[in-house]
Amino acid sequence: MRISHVVKRFGDFTALDDVSLDIHRGEVVTVVGASGSGKSTLCRTINRLETIDSGTIEVDGVPLPEEGKELARLRAEVGMVFQSFNLFPHLSVLDNITLAPVKVRGIERAAAQERARSLLERVGLADQAAKRPTQLSGGQAQRVAIARALAMDPKVMLFDEPTSALDPEMINEVLDVIKDLAASGMTMLVVTHEMGFARSAADRVVFMDAGQIVEAGAPAEFFSHPRTERARDFLSKVL
Ligand code: ATP
Ligand code: MG
Repeated sequence: MRISHVVKRFGDFTALDDVSLDIHRGEVVTVVGASGSGKSTLCRTINRLETIDSGTIEVDGVPLPEEGKELARLRAEVGMVFQSFNLFPHLSVLDNITLAPVKVRGIERAAAQERARSLLERVGLADQAAKRPTQLSGGQAQRVAIARALAMDPKVMLFDEPTSALDPEMINEVLDVIKDLAASGMTMLVVTHEMGFARSAADRVVFMDAGQIVEAGAPAEFFSHPRTERARDFLSKVL
């Protein structure tokens, strides 16, 4: 995935200020930075939940479409997991996972269900298929959200603070699923406040401040030897 010179404004305010980032196939990039630095906005522009003012975003060499059918195809290729799980409350866990594959991809219901069950197994929830989202713990709900995103066979997965709404004891069960995915070769962009995770699971860490990518590099390098005053200041507050 290639993000080139992306600018996003909200009125007079520049939320993304000439952001460029290449994510190679199979690479895991974590994004860290203070509140308001533009991390969520970056995620949201990648699957066009927000329009951009200039710049380009390509997945597998194909520019992101602006609208219409092509946009639905794009959304299918870029899986997104949010802080709040956004599951459909009136549907069972299984139906949450099969809805988009059946409706958007046109996969047969039985095949979609079989795949959903194997994904539930992968995230450790094989026995929860018949429940409603409200009957799940936060950690379970977030793992269902991950399974739901995977059901579309995305080329890239975006995570926007997937653990920050969770009770501490549930954070690891979700991070472990994300780590498994990383190990399986999924291309991922993960916005996180979990510095231990950012350090151990990422191939590269990106530090954002005031809408810009200020530093990007190997985790060991970034956490031990941040090059900029802004990064040093951020790390002194979170480590
Ligand atoms: P956090 O760590 O708190 O989630 P963030 O890095 O994800 O922060 P963003 O949500 O990307 O930050 O917001 C970046 C800036 O853009 C903030 O100053 C925010 O107020 C502003 N912003 C985001 N969305 C909008 C919007 N729809 N309208 C106006 N301003 C917005
Ligand atoms: Mg955010």
